[in-house]
Amino acid sequence: MMGHHSGNQNRLFYSFHLDDHVPPNHLLRGIDRFLDLSDLRQHLSPYYSHTGRPSIDPELLIRMLIVGYCFGIRSERRLCEEAHLNLAYRWFCRLGLEDPVPDHSSFSKNRHGRFRDSDTLRFVFERVLDRCLREGLVGGEGFAIDASVVKADANRQRGLPGNDIDWSRVSAISRPVREYLAALDEADGEKKVPKNISLTDPAAQWTAAPGGPAFYAYSTNYLVDTHAGIVVDVEATPAYRSDEVNATKTMIDRVEHRLGKKPQRLIGDTAYGTAALLGWMVDEKKIEPHVPVWDKSERSDGTFGRSSFIFDAEHNRYVCPAGKFLKTAWRSRKKDPFRYRASLYDCQPCALKARCSPNMAIRKIDRSPHESARDVARALAKTEAYQQSRKDRKKVEMLFAHLKRILKLDRLRLRGLSGAQDEFLLAATAQNLRRMVKWLAPPAPEPPWIPA
Ligand code: SF4
Repeated sequence: MMGHHSGNQNRLFYSFHLDDHVPPNHLLRGIDRFLDLSDLRQHLSPYYSHTGRPSIDPELLIRMLIVGYCFGIRSERRLCEEAHLNLAYRWFCRLGLEDPVPDHSSFSKNRHGRFRDSDTLRFVFERVLDRCLREGLVGGEGFAIDASVVKADANRQRGLPGNDIDWSRVSAISRPVREYLAALDEADGEKKVPKNISLTDPAAQWTAAPGGPAFYAYSTNYLVDTHAGIVVDVEATPAYRSDEVNATKTMIDRVEHRLGKKPQRLIGDTAYGTAALLGWMVDEKKIEPHVPVWDKSERSDGTFGRSSFIFDAEHNRYVCPAGKFLKTAWRSRKKDPFRYRASLYDCQPCALKARCSPNMAIRKIDRSPHESARDVARALAKTEAYQQSRKDRKKVEMLFAHLKRILKLDRLRLRGLSGAQDEFLLAATAQNLRRMVKWLAPPAPEPPWIPA
């Protein structure tokens, strides 16, 4: 007789233990092993009132956010639905089978209030990083730096030329606009007005994508330890080269201050090979720059580039291919101390003039004040260690690919620089947790063998 399933799901008594239903090799089991938020309540306690109705447990909100960023669930509304239905998510968030899931609006309330005031997301990031350090995943010998552009939540049509915007006439000032104006006040006129500003998220940078239309974007800047690919620091900036370079200094100093780690070598691409940054690395921080030098001194028209001239440090002069000297002119020494000029008496009769300075009376060479640091970087570029560094740099690129493809962070949901910072911190925390599980969690047991 064909059976008939009654479909009666009315509750009687269940003997149900959530822990029994989460597979031993589930990613969240591994993450739970390495995530310790025991001191989160103490960190946040000054930001809660001692009276009134109890709030939602902040650890529950953070655990839910970690689930969202680990599994690429970007919408908080969807995250709440998933946490309601998924047993593993409930288990990880310490929710019982019948416990209510917080409303999605709780996230934005806490984020804009206590979490930002107390820098809670950085606190969580650093707790996870502490664990990576204790587990020996951060070697501290070599760090790699890079930035990746992430689209802002700003419509490309809702922008105006920077000089055309009068913010005092804008009727409803939103939170990102308030933040942007406060940052402008702080900069006290030192920042250049951008060509194009978004009215929804003015801190985002109007940036041209290769092969596509321009859009508003932020950059996530990663400082990554090359031993296991752990993100040791993350910083959000507008997608602008000079901001990305400045973030390098901020992150290196912060890691040194907070973790007591300063790398022996710093790996980066040509964007980090500016003279000023190389000078800072070599002269100030004593870090080996494994970075290609940003160099425009070579020529492509067959005339002598700067490498054809030898610098004589003892006499502070260049020696040209004809054996003559280029010196700093005493008259302009104060104004332009790093410009070296040949003598008209040497250049005029010179047989090499056509290959040296065909369109000028004399040859001039500009020397950067950080030229010695650039020479250090050039010398390092010929070593085997540098070749290894080129390979190590791929670890950052892989993290960015993972960030966009697996964690689906190719467009931000939160606005303003602080919104971008929140999202990038959470994503880096999720990546470090996943990396710890990959390196340290025991492999899943083999499935039982079933004879054919
Ligand atoms: S043109 Fe002047 S600087 Fe150039 S090789 Fe001749 S002497 Fe030297």
